[in-house]
Amino acid sequence: MTTTMKPETIALHAGYRADPATNAVAVPIYQTTAFQFDSTEHAKNLFELSDFGNIYSRIMNPTSDVFEQRMAALEGGVAALAVSSGQAATAMSIQNIAHAGDNIVSSTDVYGGTWNLFANTFKDFGIEVRFVDPSDPENFRNATDARTRAYFAETLPNPKLHVFPITEVAAIGEELGVPLIMDNTAAPIICRPFDHGAHIIVYSTTKYIGGHGTSVGGMIIDSGNFDWEKHADRFPMLNQPDPSYHGAIWTEAVKPLGPIAYIIKARVTLQRDLGAATSPFNSFMFLQGLETLPLRMREHCRNAQTIAEYLESHPAITRVIYPGMHDGEQGRRADQHLNGGHGGLVGFEMSGGVEAGRTFIDSLELVYHVANIGDTRTLAIHPASTTHQQLSREDQEKSGVTEGYIRLSVGIENAEDIIADLDQALTAATIGETTARLTKAA
Ligand code: PLP
Repeated sequence: MTTTMKPETIALHAGYRADPATNAVAVPIYQTTAFQFDSTEHAKNLFELSDFGNIYSRIMNPTSDVFEQRMAALEGGVAALAVSSGQAATAMSIQNIAHAGDNIVSSTDVYGGTWNLFANTFKDFGIEVRFVDPSDPENFRNATDARTRAYFAETLPNPKLHVFPITEVAAIGEELGVPLIMDNTAAPIICRPFDHGAHIIVYSTTKYIGGHGTSVGGMIIDSGNFDWEKHADRFPMLNQPDPSYHGAIWTEAVKPLGPIAYIIKARVTLQRDLGAATSPFNSFMFLQGLETLPLRMREHCRNAQTIAEYLESHPAITRVIYPGMHDGEQGRRADQHLNGGHGGLVGFEMSGGVEAGRTFIDSLELVYHVANIGDTRTLAIHPASTTHQQLSREDQEKSGVTEGYIRLSVGIENAEDIIADLDQALTAATIGETTARLTKAA
């Protein structure tokens, strides 16, 4: 099995052929907490990392291991760590290289939960997050100093759906010695951030990877392409003895195994200590999702394009936000970084503002009103009153959330049925708006 295979094949085969114990073709759910050691010598070798194997399911598990290998292969990375949620993946990806007194530079265009983590919880931890506008990549350079440990951004952030300039910011990072961590949750298959120079990828696997809205999970993937030793002053956590692991220097300790210092440290120190472990059952669910991910992404993208075109032609809609319709620099970035589609997310604004938006949501019959994306089913939400509600008005505006904005996560139903539901809800919202206007006038 090589990673030169295509995504459709990798999603079915990477990291596993048959269960060594039973020859089972489907990946078994190893629902066990601990693993028997062969001998005291074996146990000692596992703990000191001179031998690799299973110890305890908080730190590694054979079902999760296949999921990790498959995700790493899909992204062209060297290794990965499955964690309990996308939030845990984001937090740990940074805590692995930054501690109190350090800073990171983040795009302003991030998920509301990420914004809260960065602006409040990380601040309490003593990690400063410098938010910069991603429309100019140079903003990342200008916010960097000697204590900057990472750049962070989302490939396809909603609500703006402006594709992040991965190539440009990764190049600045290479120059200054700062790794770029990309949250690729909204763009699996259609974007491979490592191909554009990114160094670490995080996922909320809750979304498209699982794909069926059943399980919460996260993943951190290491490209192996960042030179932590070259920038030893910037990364003491990887280049100086770690007192929590009998003085291991991570860049040296695992060198014979390949460029995996970052991801091994995340597993054997942070995952050990913080315990954001994924359950083997959820890893099994994510493996099921992965098998059809390339097919589903194709269909999500195709339906989203059809819905965006429908919305653009609707008289009650003032603006459609969809990466396939951006022009100028935003269009160029989408073309440069997305391959095979523009994702399943579509945003729009209605002429009737908040009231029209709420009537629209309340009138939906097929489309679900939930705070989620990446389900097989079509989902809708009004971010200003839900996902982005905890942000101040000013911060909402900065992240692109206006009062009348609706976000759709387009599913894989027949597009005609999705349009029929959107159409009747838009009609209800338009009638409601006209009635309200007439009542006001009277
Ligand atoms: N990143 C993005 C882009 C998200 O949309 C989400 C959740 O909506 C997260 C991270 C957090 O993931 P989780 O809900 O799995 O913790």
